[in-house]
Amino acid sequence: MLSLLPLPAFEDNYIWTLSDADGKAVVVDPGEAGPVLRAATEGLTPVAILLTHHHHDHVGGVAELLNHFDVPCYAPVDERIVQASHRVAEGDRVHIDALGLDLDVLAVPGHTLSHIAYHGGGFLFCGDTLFSLGCGRLFEGTPAQMLASLDRLAELPGETQVCCGHEYTQGNGRFSLLAEPDNATRDARLAEAAALRLRGQPSVPSSLASERACNPFLRIDQPTIRRALRDQGLPEGDRVQAFAALRSWKDGFAA
Ligand SMILES: [Zn+2]
Repeated sequence: MLSLLPLPAFEDNYIWTLSDADGKAVVVDPGEAGPVLRAATEGLTPVAILLTHHHHDHVGGVAELLNHFDVPCYAPVDERIVQASHRVAEGDRVHIDALGLDLDVLAVPGHTLSHIAYHGGGFLFCGDTLFSLGCGRLFEGTPAQMLASLDRLAELPGETQVCCGHEYTQGNGRFSLLAEPDNATRDARLAEAAALRLRGQPSVPSSLASERACNPFLRIDQPTIRRALRDQGLPEGDRVQAFAALRSWKDGFAA
């Protein structure tokens, strides 16, 4: 039985850890080393580092961690990530021997072109591609690429735990109220997230089933979302154009 624990970093990042009863753990996207080193003093022993994309708030702590722990560092094929020991791409499987864990690598371009996600053991480590109630900004990829990436993630089993890179649920939720005004399941999810945050707890992971039911970026085909785009005077056209319109509307939305 593995236990999942997000370590808060910076303002709103999460460094995900998945560990066994002895504290042996994979560490995902350590943007800074401090939270992992503190966890290590309380029994966490990193056995591997997994990286989803090159942004500093996801890789910035790797060099320091590798000074403390002689572990493999898996990363996408991208020369901007210099600390990787193992390059992985679509179709590869990462085997974490110490945990008896296999993770499939999925190419999910959009937020960045080389962004990957790791899926296995009932967990999805998706970096800045899919957030609870939202998705990442398109810094490098096209709307068509991001939509295809999200469509792909949305097909994973509903019970999959969505381990995303940031605590953005409430801000995303405020936008989702505009994009899809009537969604009682989403309203319940937002209330749950508010209660968790009030107690100082992460609002994530969520389940993929919850995201399919609540996240407007996975619900671009819903008539209410298309109507909201029309009401904003945004082009809805085909589903790629609708997704692009929804993403650009969110870009201009101050959460
Ligand atoms: Zn990023």
